[in-house]
Amino acid sequence: MITTAVFDTKPYDRDSLTRASANTDLDWRFLEFRLTRETAPLARGAPAVCVFVNDQVDRPCLETLAAQGVKLVALRCTGYNNVDLAAAKALNLKVTRVPVYSPYAVAEHAVALLLTLNRKVHRAFNRVREMNFSLHGLVGFDLHGKTAGIVGTGKIGRIVAQILRGFGMRVLAFDPFPTPDWAAQQGVEYVDALTLAGLSDVISLHIPLTPETKHLIRRETIDRMKPGAILINVSRGALIDTTALIEALKSGRLGGVALDVYEEEEGIFFEDLSGQVLQDDELARLLTFPNVLITSHQAFLTHEALSDIARTTMDNITALAAGGPFVDGSVLA
Ligand code: NAD
Repeated sequence: MITTAVFDTKPYDRDSLTRASANTDLDWRFLEFRLTRETAPLARGAPAVCVFVNDQVDRPCLETLAAQGVKLVALRCTGYNNVDLAAAKALNLKVTRVPVYSPYAVAEHAVALLLTLNRKVHRAFNRVREMNFSLHGLVGFDLHGKTAGIVGTGKIGRIVAQILRGFGMRVLAFDPFPTPDWAAQQGVEYVDALTLAGLSDVISLHIPLTPETKHLIRRETIDRMKPGAILINVSRGALIDTTALIEALKSGRLGGVALDVYEEEEGIFFEDLSGQVLQDDELARLLTFPNVLITSHQAFLTHEALSDIARTTMDNITALAAGGPFVDGSVLA
C-alpha cells in the first residue's frame, strides 16, 4: 500500500483519483487544506504528497516534508511556479508534474470567456432571470474578420488559435520558439510582440509564469495595445499587473478583460467565501466592472482533463515505488 497525502483536495479530485486508482495498491489521504510549511507535518508516514497550484511548496515546507520521510512531490497541474525546485533537488526530493492533459479543456474555456464577455452573456443571463428583457448595453462585435493575438503557441495557445481561425478571425501569434509548419498549415501569422499588441482586437495569454513573464501585461505594454482591445488570461495571474489593469479599465483603454486566474488568487479561488467580507480590494474593484468576467481557475475542469491528471499522478506515484520510469516529461527535480 503506497499512501499519498493529497493537499487542497476538492470533491472532484477525490472522485477522479479514487476512480483512477480502483484495483491498485494506492491509498489516498485526502486533506482539504493547502500544503504550507505549517501543514507539511500532516504528510507524516506518506512517501508521496500530491499538490495543486496554490500550495506553497517553498524551502521550509520541503525541508519539513523531507524530514517526514516524503520522497515525491507530485503536482496535479502543469505549472510549477509555486515549488522551489532548487531546494527540492538539494533535499533529494523528486518533483513531478502533469506535463500534458487535455489542452482542449483550457483552450475551450478561454474561448468560452471570450464569447461570454464579448456578447455579454453573463449580463444577459442575470437580466433575463430578473424578467428584464431589455437589450440595452448588450451590443457586442462579430469576431469574424477581427484580429486575435495569441501570446504563446504551446499546446493550449495553438488550440485557441485554431478555434479562432474557425470563427474567421485573422490570428497573429508571438512565441520565442515558434512552430512555423503548424502556423503555415493553420493560416496563423507569427509577428513580433509589439505588432501583435498593436493590431489585435483580442489578446489571449498562453505562456508560463516565470521571472521573465511576470507582469508582462503592465502599463507600458497596455499602452501598446489597440484601444478597446479585449484581454483574456487563463494562464497565471501574475502575468498581469493588476493595478495597471484596473487603471486601464477605469480609463476605458481596454474594452474588456476575462480572467480565469488572478495574481493574488491563493486562498481565495477554489473557496466558498460567500459569507465573508472580501479582503482583497483589487479583486473587489475588478468585480465591479461590467466588462470584466472572472472565473476562479476552472479552465482545467473537464472530465477528460481530470482523468488525464489522475492517471499521470498515479503513474508517477507507482513509479516512485517501482524505482521508475516516471511519466515522460513530468520530472522537474
Ligand atoms: P506549453 O509549455 O505547451 O506552451 C507555452 C508556450 O509559451 C511555449 O511555446 C513557450 O515557448 C511560450 N513562451 C514562453 N515565454 C513566452 C513569452 N515571453 N512570450 C511568448 N511566448 C512564450 O504550455 P501550455 O500547456 O500551452 O500551457 C500554458 C500555460 O497555461 C501554463 O504555463 C499554465 O500556467 C497555464 N494553464 C492554466 C490552466 C488553468 O486551469 N487555468 C490549466 C493548464 C495550464
